[in-house]
Amino acid sequence: MGSAVTMEAVDELRSRARSKRLEGREEFLSALGEILSNYLQEYRLELDPERLNVFLVLGVNGVGKTTTIAKLAQYYRSDSTSDSEDVVLAAGDTFRAAAIDQLSLHGERLGIRTIKQAPGADPGAVIFDALESARSRGSRLVLADTAGRMHSKQNLVNELSKIDKIIRNRAADAAYKRILVIDATTGQNALRQAEIFHEAVGLDAVVLAKYDSTAKGGILVPIGKDLGIPCAFLGRGETYDSLVPFDTKTYVAELLGSDVT
Ligand code: GDP
Repeated sequence: MGSAVTMEAVDELRSRARSKRLEGREEFLSALGEILSNYLQEYRLELDPERLNVFLVLGVNGVGKTTTIAKLAQYYRSDSTSDSEDVVLAAGDTFRAAAIDQLSLHGERLGIRTIKQAPGADPGAVIFDALESARSRGSRLVLADTAGRMHSKQNLVNELSKIDKIIRNRAADAAYKRILVIDATTGQNALRQAEIFHEAVGLDAVVLAKYDSTAKGGILVPIGKDLGIPCAFLGRGETYDSLVPFDTKTYVAELLGSDVT
C-alpha cells in the first residue's frame, strides 16, 4: 500500500482501538478492514444501452493492457456469439508493430473485428476509423488501445490529449470512459502511473491486472484514497474469462488474509 497510507491507517486504527476498546485479533482485523474499505473506491463499469460506448484503454507497456482489452471484449460482447459486430477493437498503439499484431490476434480468436493501420500511423486516425465503423455497423462498444510509452510525461500528455479530443469530437454523444490498466506486481510505480494518466486525460477507473500473482495489489488503496480513482475489475489470469468485477469486501478480506465481514 505504500508507507504514507499505511501510517494513516495505523493512526486511525490506533484511535479506534482506544475509543472503542478493541480487543483481540479479530476485532482489530475487522476495524482495519473497515478503515481500508472506506479508502477504496468501487466502480461498476456498465454499458449504456442507449448509446455507443467508447473505452480508451491506457497503461504502460507490459502491464497487461492488450490482454485486458481482449478480456473486456469478451466480458461485454453480447451473449449471442454470432454477433461479431457488437464490439470493435481499435489498434491505437501504432508505435509498436507487435502491439497491432497482438491485438488483431486476440480479435481473431474472439471473432471480433480489429480496426488497424500500418505501424507508425496516427493513432487518432485509427480510433476515428473505429468510431465510424462502429456507427455504421451499429456496434455497442469500441475498445481503443493506446501506446504505453512513458519516455516523457509531456509527450504522453500531448499524444493522449489529441486522442481524447478526437473521441470527444467524433463521439460527443457516446458514453466515453478512460480506463487505466495497472500491474499488481509493480507497487508504487502503479500509483505514479495512475497520477500521470489521471492528470493527462482524467481516469474513470483502473483495472488491476495480474492479481492472480503472489502480489496482493495493495496499491489500489492509495489510488482510491489519495487520487479518488475507483477500481472496476481485477485480472485474475491469462484467459479471456479471468476478468472479475472489483468488489471491495472480497478484496479487503484477501488483502488482510482473513474473513473480514
Ligand atoms: P501490454 O504490453 O500492457 O499490452 O501487456 P500484455 O497484455 O501483452 O500482457 C503482458 C503479459 O502479462 C502477457 O504475458 C499476459 O498474458 C500477461 N497477463 C496479462 N494480464 C494478466 C493477468 O491478469 N494475470 C496473469 N497471470 N498474467 C496476465
